Amino acid sequence: MKAINPFTGKVCGIYPKHTEKEVIQIIDKVDLAFKSWKRVAFADRAKYMFRLGELLLEKKDWLSDLISTEMGKVKKEAGGEVEKCAWVCRYYAENAEAFLKNETIKTEASLSFVSFQPVGTILAIMPWNFPFWQVFRFLAPNLMAGNTGLLKHASNVPGCALAIEQLVGEAGFPEDVFRAVLISGSETKSVIENAKIKGVTLTGSTPAGKAVAAAAGAVLKKTVLELGGSDPYVILEDADIAEAAGLCASGRLLNAGQSCIGAKRFIVMDAVYDEFKAEFLKHMQAAVFGDPMDDKTTIGPMARTDLRDELHEQVTKSVEKGAAILCGGFVPQAEAAFYPATVLENVKPGMPAYHEELFGPVASLFRVYNLEEAVSIANDTVFGLGAAVFTRDHEKGLKLAETGVESGCVFINDFVKSDPRLPFGGVKESGYGRELSLLGIREFVNAKTVVLK
Ligand code: NDP
Repeated sequence: MKAINPFTGKVCGIYPKHTEKEVIQIIDKVDLAFKSWKRVAFADRAKYMFRLGELLLEKKDWLSDLISTEMGKVKKEAGGEVEKCAWVCRYYAENAEAFLKNETIKTEASLSFVSFQPVGTILAIMPWNFPFWQVFRFLAPNLMAGNTGLLKHASNVPGCALAIEQLVGEAGFPEDVFRAVLISGSETKSVIENAKIKGVTLTGSTPAGKAVAAAAGAVLKKTVLELGGSDPYVILEDADIAEAAGLCASGRLLNAGQSCIGAKRFIVMDAVYDEFKAEFLKHMQAAVFGDPMDDKTTIGPMARTDLRDELHEQVTKSVEKGAAILCGGFVPQAEAAFYPATVLENVKPGMPAYHEELFGPVASLFRVYNLEEAVSIANDTVFGLGAAVFTRDHEKGLKLAETGVESGCVFINDFVKSDPRLPFGGVKESGYGRELSLLGIREFVNAKTVVLK
Protein backbone atom coordinates (compact mmCIF):
# COMPACT_ATOMS: atom_id res chain seq x y z
CA MET A 1 0.00 0.00 0.00
CA LYS A 2 1.55 3.30 -1.10
CA ALA A 3 1.11 6.57 0.73
CA ILE A 4 1.65 9.56 -1.57
CA ASN A 5 2.36 13.01 -0.17
CA PRO A 6 -0.21 15.18 -1.98
CA PHE A 7 2.01 18.27 -1.63
CA THR A 8 5.12 16.78 -3.30
CA GLY A 9 3.41 14.06 -5.34
CA LYS A 10 6.11 11.68 -4.05
CA VAL A 11 5.68 8.30 -2.35
CA CYS A 12 6.16 8.83 1.40
CA GLY A 13 5.65 5.27 2.57
CA ILE A 14 5.18 1.73 1.27
CA TYR A 15 3.45 -0.80 3.49
CA PRO A 16 2.87 -4.50 2.82
CA LYS A 17 -0.82 -5.29 2.51
CA HIS A 18 -2.28 -8.02 4.68
CA THR A 19 -3.11 -11.23 2.86
CA GLU A 20 -6.54 -12.83 3.24
CA LYS A 21 -5.04 -15.43 5.58
CA GLU A 22 -3.40 -12.76 7.73
CA VAL A 23 -6.66 -10.82 7.95
CA ILE A 24 -8.46 -13.94 9.21
CA GLN A 25 -5.72 -14.54 11.78
CA ILE A 26 -6.00 -10.95 13.01
CA ILE A 27 -9.80 -11.21 13.30
CA ASP A 28 -9.37 -14.43 15.32
CA LYS A 29 -6.99 -12.66 17.70
CA VAL A 30 -9.24 -9.62 18.15
CA ASP A 31 -12.20 -11.92 18.80
CA LEU A 32 -10.18 -13.84 21.39
CA ALA A 33 -9.15 -10.56 23.05
CA PHE A 34 -12.86 -9.65 23.34
CA LYS A 35 -13.52 -12.67 25.57
CA SER A 36 -11.41 -11.16 28.36
CA TRP A 37 -11.70 -7.44 27.51
CA LYS A 38 -15.47 -7.50 28.04
CA ARG A 39 -14.87 -8.52 31.67
CA VAL A 40 -12.37 -5.74 32.45
CA ALA A 41 -13.83 -3.20 34.89
CA PHE A 42 -14.71 0.28 33.62
CA ALA A 43 -12.13 1.82 35.96
CA ASP A 44 -9.37 -0.27 34.37
CA ARG A 45 -10.54 0.41 30.83
CA ALA A 46 -10.55 4.10 31.75
CA LYS A 47 -6.92 3.95 32.96
CA TYR A 48 -5.77 2.80 29.53
CA MET A 49 -8.02 5.30 27.76
CA PHE A 50 -6.69 8.24 29.82
CA ARG A 51 -3.15 7.08 29.02
CA LEU A 52 -4.00 6.92 25.31
CA GLY A 53 -5.20 10.52 25.50
CA GLU A 54 -1.94 11.58 27.17
CA LEU A 55 0.15 9.74 24.61
CA LEU A 56 -1.61 11.56 21.77
CA LEU A 57 -0.66 14.89 23.32
CA GLU A 58 2.93 13.80 24.04
CA LYS A 59 3.36 12.69 20.41
CA LYS A 60 1.32 15.49 18.85
CA ASP A 61 4.16 16.87 16.76
CA TRP A 62 5.06 13.52 15.20
CA LEU A 63 1.44 12.59 14.61
CA SER A 64 0.61 15.97 13.02
CA ASP A 65 3.57 15.54 10.66
CA LEU A 66 2.32 12.10 9.70
CA ILE A 67 -1.22 13.34 9.01
CA SER A 68 -0.01 16.33 6.96
CA THR A 69 2.42 14.18 4.98
CA GLU A 70 -0.09 11.47 4.10
CA MET A 71 -3.16 13.58 3.31
CA GLY A 72 -2.03 17.20 3.02
CA LYS A 73 -3.83 18.79 5.96
CA VAL A 74 -2.27 22.02 7.22
CA LYS A 75 -0.09 21.03 10.19
CA LYS A 76 -1.79 23.45 12.62
CA GLU A 77 -5.14 21.80 11.84
CA ALA A 78 -3.58 18.33 12.20
CA GLY A 79 -2.40 19.35 15.69
CA GLY A 80 -5.96 20.41 16.53
CA GLU A 81 -7.24 17.06 15.28
CA VAL A 82 -4.83 15.16 17.54
CA GLU A 83 -5.88 17.30 20.55
CA LYS A 84 -9.53 16.55 19.82
CA CYS A 85 -8.74 12.82 19.82
CA ALA A 86 -7.21 13.21 23.28
CA TRP A 87 -10.43 14.97 24.37
CA VAL A 88 -12.67 12.13 23.15
CA CYS A 89 -10.44 9.62 25.01
CA ARG A 90 -10.81 11.60 28.25
CA TYR A 91 -14.52 12.15 27.65
CA TYR A 92 -15.37 8.45 27.36
CA ALA A 93 -12.89 7.45 30.08
CA GLU A 94 -14.83 9.76 32.40
CA ASN A 95 -18.39 9.05 31.22
CA ALA A 96 -18.65 5.53 29.78
CA GLU A 97 -19.59 3.83 33.04
CA ALA A 98 -22.44 6.27 33.71
CA PHE A 99 -23.66 6.04 30.10
CA LEU A 100 -23.87 2.24 30.34
CA LYS A 101 -25.23 1.95 33.86
CA ASN A 102 -28.23 -0.34 34.25
CA GLU A 103 -31.51 1.50 33.72
CA THR A 104 -34.28 0.42 36.05
CA ILE A 105 -37.82 0.48 34.62
CA LYS A 106 -40.76 0.09 37.00
CA THR A 107 -43.11 -2.81 36.09
CA GLU A 108 -45.19 -5.34 38.09
CA ALA A 109 -42.04 -7.47 38.48
CA SER A 110 -39.92 -7.11 41.61
CA LEU A 111 -37.06 -5.86 39.41
CA SER A 112 -36.78 -4.95 35.75
CA PHE A 113 -33.93 -3.14 34.09
CA VAL A 114 -31.89 -2.68 30.91
CA SER A 115 -28.28 -3.79 30.95
CA PHE A 116 -25.92 -2.61 28.20
CA GLN A 117 -23.60 -5.43 27.20
CA PRO A 118 -20.73 -5.31 24.69
CA VAL A 119 -21.31 -7.32 21.51
CA GLY A 120 -17.82 -8.21 20.22
CA THR A 121 -15.51 -7.02 17.47
CA ILE A 122 -16.68 -4.03 15.46
CA LEU A 123 -15.23 -3.30 12.03
CA ALA A 124 -14.51 0.39 11.40
CA ILE A 125 -14.11 1.42 7.75
CA MET A 126 -12.69 4.90 7.90
CA PRO A 127 -11.79 7.77 5.53
CA TRP A 128 -8.68 9.84 5.05
CA ASN A 129 -10.08 13.34 5.64
CA PHE A 130 -9.67 13.32 9.45
CA PRO A 131 -7.51 10.20 9.61
CA PHE A 132 -7.20 10.30 13.42
CA TRP A 133 -10.45 11.91 14.56
CA GLN A 134 -12.73 9.63 12.52
CA VAL A 135 -11.03 6.59 14.05
CA PHE A 136 -10.90 7.89 17.62
CA ARG A 137 -14.57 8.79 17.75
CA PHE A 138 -15.22 5.10 17.04
CA LEU A 139 -12.38 3.70 19.12
CA ALA A 140 -12.92 5.57 22.41
CA PRO A 141 -16.61 4.73 23.01
CA ASN A 142 -16.34 1.19 21.68
CA LEU A 143 -13.31 0.11 23.70
CA MET A 144 -14.84 1.73 26.79
CA ALA A 145 -18.07 -0.22 26.13
CA GLY A 146 -16.07 -3.45 26.18
CA ASN A 147 -16.07 -4.09 22.45
CA THR A 148 -12.89 -4.74 20.49
CA GLY A 149 -12.07 -2.93 17.24
CA LEU A 150 -10.78 -3.80 13.78
CA LEU A 151 -9.77 -0.82 11.65
CA LYS A 152 -9.82 -0.83 7.84
CA HIS A 153 -8.53 2.64 7.11
CA ALA A 154 -8.54 4.46 3.75
CA SER A 155 -5.83 3.13 1.43
CA ASN A 156 -4.03 6.50 1.22
CA VAL A 157 -3.36 6.77 4.99
CA PRO A 158 -1.77 3.41 5.99
CA GLY A 159 0.84 5.13 8.19
CA CYS A 160 -1.93 6.74 10.26
CA ALA A 161 -3.68 3.36 10.63
CA LEU A 162 -0.54 1.69 11.96
CA ALA A 163 0.34 4.66 14.20
CA ILE A 164 -3.07 4.42 15.90
CA GLU A 165 -2.65 0.66 16.41
CA GLN A 166 0.80 1.31 17.90
CA LEU A 167 -0.47 4.03 20.25
CA VAL A 168 -3.21 1.74 21.60
CA GLY A 169 -0.54 -0.86 22.38
CA GLU A 170 1.73 1.72 24.03
CA ALA A 171 -1.14 2.94 26.20
CA GLY A 172 -1.16 -0.51 27.82
CA PHE A 173 -4.41 -1.92 26.44
CA PRO A 174 -4.32 -5.75 26.39
CA GLU A 175 -2.93 -7.19 23.18
CA ASP A 176 -5.27 -7.33 20.16
CA VAL A 177 -8.17 -5.27 21.56
CA PHE A 178 -7.62 -2.92 18.62
CA ARG A 179 -5.96 -3.91 15.35
CA ALA A 180 -5.58 -2.42 11.89
CA VAL A 181 -5.72 -4.37 8.63
CA LEU A 182 -4.18 -2.96 5.47
CA ILE A 183 -6.62 -3.99 2.76
CA SER A 184 -8.53 -2.12 0.06
CA GLY A 185 -12.24 -1.30 0.04
CA SER A 186 -12.92 -4.06 -2.50
CA GLU A 187 -11.42 -6.67 -0.13
CA THR A 188 -13.63 -5.68 2.78
CA LYS A 189 -16.77 -7.71 1.97
CA SER A 190 -15.30 -10.98 3.27
CA VAL A 191 -14.33 -9.23 6.52
CA ILE A 192 -17.91 -7.99 6.96
CA GLU A 193 -19.11 -11.56 6.34
CA ASN A 194 -16.71 -13.08 8.89
CA ALA A 195 -18.86 -14.47 11.74
CA LYS A 196 -16.54 -12.94 14.34
CA ILE A 197 -17.35 -9.40 13.19
CA LYS A 198 -20.47 -8.26 15.06
CA GLY A 199 -21.10 -4.82 13.60
CA VAL A 200 -19.76 -2.35 11.05
CA THR A 201 -19.33 1.41 11.14
CA LEU A 202 -18.33 3.38 8.06
CA THR A 203 -17.51 7.02 7.48
CA GLY A 204 -17.09 7.88 3.82
CA SER A 205 -18.98 8.43 0.60
CA THR A 206 -22.62 7.50 0.06
CA PRO A 207 -21.76 4.82 -2.58
CA ALA A 208 -19.32 3.16 -0.15
CA GLY A 209 -22.00 3.35 2.57
CA LYS A 210 -24.57 1.67 0.33
CA ALA A 211 -22.15 -1.14 -0.61
CA VAL A 212 -21.20 -1.78 3.01
CA ALA A 213 -24.81 -1.61 4.25
CA ALA A 214 -25.83 -4.14 1.55
CA ALA A 215 -23.01 -6.54 2.48
CA ALA A 216 -23.76 -6.20 6.21
CA GLY A 217 -27.51 -6.45 5.63
CA ALA A 218 -27.06 -9.73 3.77
CA VAL A 219 -25.52 -11.25 6.92
CA LEU A 220 -27.81 -9.29 9.29
CA LYS A 221 -25.18 -7.13 10.93
CA LYS A 222 -25.88 -3.73 12.32
CA THR A 223 -24.27 -0.73 10.62
CA VAL A 224 -23.71 2.88 11.55
CA LEU A 225 -23.13 5.06 8.49
CA GLU A 226 -21.74 8.57 8.50
CA LEU A 227 -21.73 9.59 4.85
CA GLY A 228 -21.50 12.68 2.72
CA GLY A 229 -23.18 16.02 3.20
CA SER A 230 -24.01 19.19 1.34
CA ASP A 231 -24.69 21.40 4.33
CA PRO A 232 -26.91 24.44 3.70
CA TYR A 233 -26.15 27.68 5.57
CA VAL A 234 -29.12 30.03 5.62
CA ILE A 235 -28.30 33.73 6.11
CA LEU A 236 -31.34 35.80 7.12
CA GLU A 237 -31.79 39.58 6.72
CA ASP A 238 -31.18 40.28 10.39
CA ALA A 239 -27.87 38.35 10.64
CA ASP A 240 -24.59 39.98 11.63
CA ILE A 241 -23.31 39.77 8.06
CA ALA A 242 -19.63 40.49 8.70
CA GLU A 243 -19.46 37.82 11.38
CA ALA A 244 -21.55 35.35 9.38
CA ALA A 245 -19.35 35.75 6.29
CA GLY A 246 -16.18 35.05 8.30
CA LEU A 247 -17.65 31.97 9.98
CA CYS A 248 -19.08 30.69 6.68
CA ALA A 249 -15.70 30.99 4.95
CA SER A 250 -13.97 29.21 7.85
CA GLY A 251 -16.60 26.47 7.72
CA ARG A 252 -16.01 26.07 4.00
CA LEU A 253 -12.20 26.10 4.00
CA LEU A 254 -11.41 23.90 6.99
CA ASN A 255 -9.37 20.88 5.90
CA ALA A 256 -9.23 22.31 2.33
CA GLY A 257 -13.00 21.88 2.20
CA GLN A 258 -12.77 18.10 2.64
CA SER A 259 -15.21 17.68 5.45
CA CYS A 260 -18.58 15.94 5.46
CA ILE A 261 -19.91 18.75 7.67
CA GLY A 262 -18.21 21.47 5.64
CA ALA A 263 -20.39 24.50 4.87
CA LYS A 264 -21.22 23.97 1.21
CA ARG A 265 -24.33 25.87 0.08
CA PHE A 266 -24.94 29.45 1.20
CA ILE A 267 -28.57 30.48 0.91
CA VAL A 268 -28.78 34.22 1.40
CA MET A 269 -31.78 36.57 1.64
CA ASP A 270 -31.96 39.07 -1.21
CA ALA A 271 -31.76 42.10 1.14
CA VAL A 272 -28.30 41.10 2.40
CA TYR A 273 -27.06 39.02 -0.56
CA ASP A 274 -24.70 41.63 -2.04
CA GLU A 275 -23.22 42.58 1.32
CA PHE A 276 -22.71 38.92 2.28
CA LYS A 277 -21.22 38.08 -1.11
CA ALA A 278 -18.65 40.93 -0.87
CA GLU A 279 -17.60 40.00 2.70
CA PHE A 280 -17.53 36.27 1.97
CA LEU A 281 -15.43 36.76 -1.17
CA LYS A 282 -12.92 38.83 0.82
CA HIS A 283 -12.37 35.91 3.20
CA MET A 284 -12.27 33.26 0.47
CA GLN A 285 -9.79 35.27 -1.63
CA ALA A 286 -7.55 35.78 1.41
CA ALA A 287 -6.99 32.01 1.68
CA VAL A 288 -3.38 31.09 0.98
CA PHE A 289 -2.65 27.68 -0.46
CA GLY A 290 0.79 26.18 -0.04
CA ASP A 291 3.01 23.82 1.92
CA PRO A 292 0.91 22.32 4.73
CA MET A 293 3.96 22.47 7.02
CA ASP A 294 4.24 26.25 6.54
CA ASP A 295 2.54 28.37 9.22
CA LYS A 296 1.38 30.91 6.64
CA THR A 297 -0.59 28.32 4.64
CA THR A 298 -4.32 28.31 5.26
CA ILE A 299 -5.32 25.65 2.71
CA GLY A 300 -3.11 22.68 1.98
CA PRO A 301 -3.41 20.46 -1.07
CA MET A 302 -6.38 18.14 -1.40
CA ALA A 303 -5.69 14.57 -0.31
CA ARG A 304 -5.29 13.08 -3.80
CA THR A 305 -5.03 14.44 -7.34
CA ASP A 306 -7.96 12.26 -8.52
CA LEU A 307 -10.19 13.88 -5.86
CA ARG A 308 -9.01 17.35 -7.01
CA ASP A 309 -9.68 16.49 -10.66
CA GLU A 310 -13.15 15.17 -9.82
CA LEU A 311 -13.93 18.41 -7.96
CA HIS A 312 -12.73 20.53 -10.88
CA GLU A 313 -14.95 18.54 -13.22
CA GLN A 314 -17.97 19.24 -10.98
CA VAL A 315 -17.10 22.96 -11.12
CA THR A 316 -16.52 22.93 -14.90
CA LYS A 317 -19.78 21.10 -15.62
CA SER A 318 -21.70 23.53 -13.40
CA VAL A 319 -20.16 26.48 -15.28
CA GLU A 320 -21.04 24.90 -18.63
CA LYS A 321 -24.64 24.80 -17.42
CA GLY A 322 -24.65 28.48 -16.43
CA ALA A 323 -23.01 28.87 -13.01
CA ALA A 324 -20.69 31.89 -12.64
CA ILE A 325 -17.24 31.73 -11.05
CA LEU A 326 -16.60 34.62 -8.64
CA CYS A 327 -13.12 33.43 -7.65
CA GLY A 328 -10.92 30.34 -8.10
CA GLY A 329 -12.21 27.58 -10.35
CA PHE A 330 -8.90 26.58 -11.97
CA VAL A 331 -6.23 23.89 -11.49
CA PRO A 332 -2.99 25.60 -10.43
CA GLN A 333 0.23 24.67 -12.24
CA ALA A 334 1.89 22.63 -9.52
CA GLU A 335 2.88 19.12 -8.59
CA ALA A 336 0.60 19.34 -5.61
CA ALA A 337 -3.10 18.42 -5.54
CA PHE A 338 -4.04 22.08 -4.97
CA TYR A 339 -7.42 23.62 -5.67
CA PRO A 340 -8.00 27.28 -4.91
CA ALA A 341 -10.81 28.69 -2.78
CA THR A 342 -13.66 28.92 -5.28
CA VAL A 343 -17.04 30.67 -5.15
CA LEU A 344 -19.90 29.96 -7.57
CA GLU A 345 -23.19 31.79 -8.05
CA ASN A 346 -26.25 31.29 -10.27
CA VAL A 347 -26.21 27.65 -9.17
CA LYS A 348 -29.39 25.98 -10.42
CA PRO A 349 -31.04 22.52 -10.47
CA GLY A 350 -29.40 20.25 -13.04
CA MET A 351 -25.84 21.35 -12.12
CA PRO A 352 -23.44 19.14 -10.13
CA ALA A 353 -22.92 22.06 -7.69
CA TYR A 354 -26.66 21.98 -6.93
CA HIS A 355 -27.13 18.24 -6.38
CA GLU A 356 -23.76 16.71 -5.53
CA GLU A 357 -21.36 16.96 -2.63
CA LEU A 358 -18.43 19.24 -3.54
CA PHE A 359 -15.67 17.80 -1.36
CA GLY A 360 -13.14 20.63 -1.60
CA PRO A 361 -12.85 24.40 -1.15
CA VAL A 362 -15.80 25.32 -3.39
CA ALA A 363 -18.80 27.35 -2.17
CA SER A 364 -22.15 27.88 -3.94
CA LEU A 365 -24.19 31.05 -3.34
CA PHE A 366 -27.99 31.17 -3.71
CA ARG A 367 -30.08 34.35 -3.66
CA VAL A 368 -33.54 33.83 -2.14
CA TYR A 369 -36.51 36.12 -1.53
CA ASN A 370 -38.28 34.58 1.45
CA LEU A 371 -37.90 32.00 4.19
CA GLU A 372 -40.01 29.42 2.41
CA GLU A 373 -37.75 29.51 -0.63
CA ALA A 374 -34.66 29.33 1.62
CA VAL A 375 -35.95 26.19 3.39
CA SER A 376 -37.04 24.65 0.11
CA ILE A 377 -33.53 25.00 -1.41
CA ALA A 378 -31.88 23.92 1.85
CA ASN A 379 -33.89 20.68 1.79
CA ASP A 380 -33.71 20.08 -1.97
CA THR A 381 -30.87 17.58 -1.61
CA VAL A 382 -30.41 13.88 -0.98
CA PHE A 383 -28.13 14.78 1.94
CA GLY A 384 -29.05 15.68 5.50
CA LEU A 385 -25.96 15.90 7.67
CA GLY A 386 -25.53 19.42 9.12
CA ALA A 387 -26.89 22.91 8.56
CA ALA A 388 -26.56 26.42 9.97
CA VAL A 389 -28.78 29.46 10.31
CA PHE A 390 -27.52 33.00 10.84
CA THR A 391 -29.97 35.42 12.49
CA ARG A 392 -30.17 37.80 15.46
CA ASP A 393 -33.72 36.52 16.10
CA HIS A 394 -33.04 33.49 18.28
CA GLU A 395 -36.71 32.40 18.33
CA LYS A 396 -36.80 32.31 14.54
CA GLY A 397 -33.43 30.54 14.36
CA LEU A 398 -34.50 27.88 16.85
CA LYS A 399 -37.79 27.26 15.02
CA LEU A 400 -36.01 26.88 11.70
CA ALA A 401 -33.45 24.57 13.33
CA GLU A 402 -36.01 22.30 14.96
CA THR A 403 -38.68 22.05 12.31
CA GLY A 404 -37.45 23.61 9.05
CA VAL A 405 -34.18 22.06 7.97
CA GLU A 406 -33.89 18.29 7.42
CA SER A 407 -30.51 17.37 8.91
CA GLY A 408 -28.79 15.58 11.79
CA CYS A 409 -27.82 18.89 13.40
CA VAL A 410 -28.33 22.63 13.01
CA PHE A 411 -26.05 25.30 14.43
CA ILE A 412 -27.33 28.83 14.92
CA ASN A 413 -24.82 31.65 14.33
CA ASP A 414 -21.85 29.29 14.06
CA PHE A 415 -20.44 26.74 11.66
CA VAL A 416 -21.10 23.06 12.30
CA LYS A 417 -18.51 21.13 14.29
CA SER A 418 -18.47 17.77 16.02
CA ASP A 419 -18.12 17.65 19.81
CA PRO A 420 -17.67 14.49 21.94
CA ARG A 421 -20.59 15.63 24.16
CA LEU A 422 -23.10 15.99 21.31
CA PRO A 423 -24.63 13.29 19.07
CA PHE A 424 -23.31 13.34 15.51
CA GLY A 425 -24.84 11.79 12.39
CA GLY A 426 -27.23 12.35 9.54
CA VAL A 427 -30.57 11.66 7.92
CA LYS A 428 -31.47 10.84 4.27
CA GLU A 429 -28.41 9.72 2.24
CA SER A 430 -26.06 11.18 4.84
CA GLY A 431 -26.50 7.94 6.73
CA TYR A 432 -27.98 6.71 9.98
CA GLY A 433 -27.01 6.02 13.55
CA ARG A 434 -25.20 8.42 15.83
CA GLU A 435 -21.61 8.78 16.96
CA LEU A 436 -20.29 10.53 20.08
CA SER A 437 -22.18 11.39 23.32
CA LEU A 438 -24.36 8.87 25.15
CA LEU A 439 -26.06 7.86 21.87
CA GLY A 440 -22.73 6.94 20.22
CA ILE A 441 -21.61 4.52 22.92
CA ARG A 442 -25.00 2.79 22.82
CA GLU A 443 -24.89 1.93 19.10
CA PHE A 444 -22.92 -1.29 19.41
CA VAL A 445 -24.18 -2.72 22.70
CA ASN A 446 -26.87 -5.23 23.46
CA ALA A 447 -29.57 -3.35 25.37
CA LYS A 448 -30.62 -6.42 27.31
CA THR A 449 -33.88 -6.46 29.24
CA VAL A 450 -33.64 -8.31 32.55
CA VAL A 451 -36.77 -9.11 34.58
CA LEU A 452 -36.97 -10.68 38.06
CA LYS A 453 -40.49 -11.82 38.87
P1 NDP B 1 -14.69 6.35 -0.04
O1 NDP B 1 -16.02 6.48 0.56
O2 NDP B 1 -14.55 5.50 -1.25
O3 NDP B 1 -13.69 5.78 1.09
C1 NDP B 1 -13.95 5.80 2.48
C2 NDP B 1 -13.58 4.45 3.08
O4 NDP B 1 -14.46 3.46 2.57
C3 NDP B 1 -12.18 3.99 2.71
O5 NDP B 1 -11.63 3.25 3.78
C4 NDP B 1 -12.43 3.09 1.52
O6 NDP B 1 -11.40 2.17 1.28
C5 NDP B 1 -13.71 2.41 1.95
N1 NDP B 1 -14.51 1.86 0.87
C6 NDP B 1 -14.79 2.41 -0.33
N2 NDP B 1 -15.61 1.60 -1.05
C7 NDP B 1 -15.87 0.52 -0.26
C8 NDP B 1 -16.63 -0.65 -0.44
N3 NDP B 1 -17.33 -0.89 -1.54
N4 NDP B 1 -16.64 -1.56 0.56
C9 NDP B 1 -15.96 -1.34 1.71
N5 NDP B 1 -15.21 -0.25 1.92
C10 NDP B 1 -15.17 0.69 0.96
O7 NDP B 1 -14.09 7.78 -0.30
P2 NDP B 1 -13.00 8.29 -1.39
O8 NDP B 1 -11.69 8.30 -0.73
O9 NDP B 1 -13.06 7.56 -2.67
O10 NDP B 1 -13.56 9.76 -1.59
C11 NDP B 1 -14.60 9.96 -2.54
C12 NDP B 1 -15.65 10.88 -2.01
O11 NDP B 1 -16.24 10.36 -0.81
C13 NDP B 1 -15.18 12.26 -1.58
O12 NDP B 1 -14.98 13.10 -2.65
C14 NDP B 1 -16.30 12.67 -0.65
O13 NDP B 1 -17.38 13.14 -1.40
C15 NDP B 1 -16.69 11.39 0.04
N6 NDP B 1 -16.05 11.25 1.37
C16 NDP B 1 -16.77 11.58 2.46
C17 NDP B 1 -16.20 11.52 3.71
C18 NDP B 1 -16.97 11.87 4.93
O14 NDP B 1 -16.37 12.31 5.91
N7 NDP B 1 -18.26 11.66 4.97
C19 NDP B 1 -14.81 11.12 3.90
C20 NDP B 1 -14.14 10.76 2.67
C21 NDP B 1 -14.75 10.83 1.47
P3 NDP B 1 -10.26 2.47 0.17
O15 NDP B 1 -9.60 3.74 0.58
O16 NDP B 1 -9.38 1.28 0.30
O17 NDP B 1 -10.98 2.57 -1.15
